[in-house]
This record gives sequence, C-alpha cells and structure tokens, in this order.
Amino acid sequence: MSDCIFCQIVSGQIPSSKVYEDEEVLAFLDITQVTKGHTLVIPKKHYRNMLEMDAEAASSLFARVPKIAKQLQEKLGSSGINIINNNEEAAGQTVFHTHVHLLPRFDESDGLKLSFETHEPDFAALAQLAQEIFLGE
Ligand code: AMP
Ligand code: ZN
Repeated sequence: MSDCIFCQIVSGQIPSSKVYEDEEVLAFLDITQVTKGHTLVIPKKHYRNMLEMDAEAASSLFARVPKIAKQLQEKLGSSGINIINNNEEAAGQTVFHTHVHLLPRFDESDGLKLSFETHEPDFAALAQLAQEIFLGE
C-alpha cells in the first residue's frame, strides 16, 4: 500500500533502524523507544491488523517473535519483555499495518507503565460470558 508508512519502510522508501529481516518479516526500532530496544515486528505484506489476517499469515509473523525477543534480551541484558499488539483505534492502534511491539523490561522506571483494572471474580457471570463467546472447533 503506497500510503502506508510501514510498507514504505519495507520497500526502503523511508529509513528504519533494522534489527532483523528475512523474506517475510522485518523488525525495526520504534522511533519512540518507550523502553530501550522497543522494537516493532511486521509482516512484509500489508495487513491492516490481526483482525484481517488468517492463521497462516499470523503464524508466519508470530513464529519469528520468540527469536527476536531472545535476541533483544541477550543483546540488551533486559530482565523481561512485554509483547503487545494493538488492533483498531479503540485498542490504541495508530499505524494501520499489523505490528507486534516488543518492549524489553529492565525495572519499574524503564518507561513502560501497564495497569490492569482488576475486579473481584464473579464466577456465574464468567460462565455466562464464556458461553456467549464460546467457539467450537
Ligand atoms: P500502534 O500505536 O500500536 O499503532 O503503534 C505504532 C507505533 O509505530 C508507535 O509506537 C510509533 O512510535 C511507531 N512508529 C511510527 N512511525 C514510525 C517510523 N517511521 N519508524 C519506526 N516506528 C514508527
Ligand atoms: Zn502497509
């Protein structure tokens, strides 16, 4: 897609700081560096997001993630890593070419603040909700 910045990175029209590349996937440093080594892993083929991908395309992308995550961990000496994927505006997606964020973690003040609002478990409500969502084989 000619107006997609990540497609332009794949084609070399705009520069990126590459950390991994093969025939299907490219990984480069996110310009914002939320944590040191913040990396985006993208398929070379354009997909808007995960909701547009089939199992094969998603497998090809995610199959590379452990290798790149371990590479970051080893090279940067991080003690953990968050792996995040945002889909659609409501979920914080701002660039509409599928990407997986790899965020090496060092300590509590490394730049990333994640918080989950937690609730007391309501097991009856959980069972009902699961029934609503349940997808067989
Ligand atoms: P998201 O909010 O999940 O769609 O993430 C998009 C990410 O792309 C943001 O973290 C941006 O900092 C990053 N980004 C945007 N333009 C570029 C670029 N030219 N090179 C590297 N990262 C970029
Ligand atoms: Zn694209």
